[in-house]
Amino acid sequence: MIPKPDLPEGLHLDTLAVREGLPATPWGENSEALFLTSSFVHPDAATAARRFANEEEAFVYSRFGNPTVMMMERRLAAMEGTSGCIGTSSGMAASLLLVMGLLKAGDHIVCSQSVFGSTLRLFQDFARFGVETSFVSQTDLGAWQAAMRPNTRMLFAETPSNPLTEVCDVRALADIAHDAGAWLAVDNCFCSPALQQPAKLGADFVVHSGTKYLDGQGRVIAGAVCGPAELIDSKLMPVMRSAGMSLSPFNAWVVLKGLETLSIRLQAQSARALELAQWLEAHPAVERVFHPSLPSHPQHALAMAQQGGQGGAVVSFVVRAPLGDERLAAFSVIDATRICSITANLGDTKTTITHPSSTSHGRLSEAQRQAAGITQGLIRLAVGLEHVGDLKADLARGLDALPAHR
Ligand SMILES: *Cc1c(COP(=O)(O)O)cnc(C)c1O
Repeated sequence: MIPKPDLPEGLHLDTLAVREGLPATPWGENSEALFLTSSFVHPDAATAARRFANEEEAFVYSRFGNPTVMMMERRLAAMEGTSGCIGTSSGMAASLLLVMGLLKAGDHIVCSQSVFGSTLRLFQDFARFGVETSFVSQTDLGAWQAAMRPNTRMLFAETPSNPLTEVCDVRALADIAHDAGAWLAVDNCFCSPALQQPAKLGADFVVHSGTKYLDGQGRVIAGAVCGPAELIDSKLMPVMRSAGMSLSPFNAWVVLKGLETLSIRLQAQSARALELAQWLEAHPAVERVFHPSLPSHPQHALAMAQQGGQGGAVVSFVVRAPLGDERLAAFSVIDATRICSITANLGDTKTTITHPSSTSHGRLSEAQRQAAGITQGLIRLAVGLEHVGDLKADLARGLDALPAHR
């Protein structure tokens, strides 16, 4: 048994985020060690044989076990309130591992149509291996229920969605899944465990892109699946061992240290996002604002209950422009910024600004985009930690120059 740090029971998330992991080495380092080693040495041949046969828990080879990666996994599991966690090389690898580990040809998935674009494509690709996916409305529980088949083994949701921050009811989806003997997996990228713990609402698995808020400073690609230790050990670990979508110890270390500040970052970024959202809602050149903390958000009450009273750091808004000029108007607001980074990434301390319909959702047809509400005038902000007054000024520069304002 690989020991845990000697901590009292019943600690809060903020404490676990800083303290959970592995005990220090005999050197007594206070900051967690970074174990850059591909393999581990055994005292004798008989011990090596026991460890390879899984009869004794020990580190063998970093494709499927490394102390730094394990520290990150234990810390994230503690924060999500799950008994297990497995680190992966990216957020996409986490979803790949989840499906490869749990499903087989002939199984069926029901998935929100508003999930991350690469997740959509990955799930469409699983059809080549005999796992079919039905895509349904993020917010219409009846549609989820109607899509269930006798062979449905998994429901997959992401809440709030990108870029329109649509919220789905995790507890209700867990009930639909469990009534049918299926699992519910939730991509918790946008809220992170600092705001929302899907496992506590009934989700069986929580998928993460560690690249976003968990790292929090835009440095590394990383991912993880949190869930019951028994299923992670018996179903996911064997796939990790053979397929090797492993998290590098260095990237795990960066995420591990990122988790220590996750809660204060997300609260500060959420507060800035709300202040910006309220300011945008009052701006004459803005037609509509999407943020779960606004009373105008269609699932405001559900979001506040599910997300610890916080809206998260993503705000989207539609600029007001004459018909046909919406894209030009959105581009002019984006191009007038001098602080925001023009990039589709999010989860950084640096505020990012993006035009979804020509970037993250550029591969959809215009009709698909219209159906999804991704209009040409839509701009997405992932709010960072800059002073909110400076961010308002950065956006006002373009907004104040729009014809709708003048
Ligand atoms: C970025 C992202 C992913 C994919 O994560 P990577 O680490 O880039 O592979 C999955 N889901 C959501 C919601 C994301 O934003």
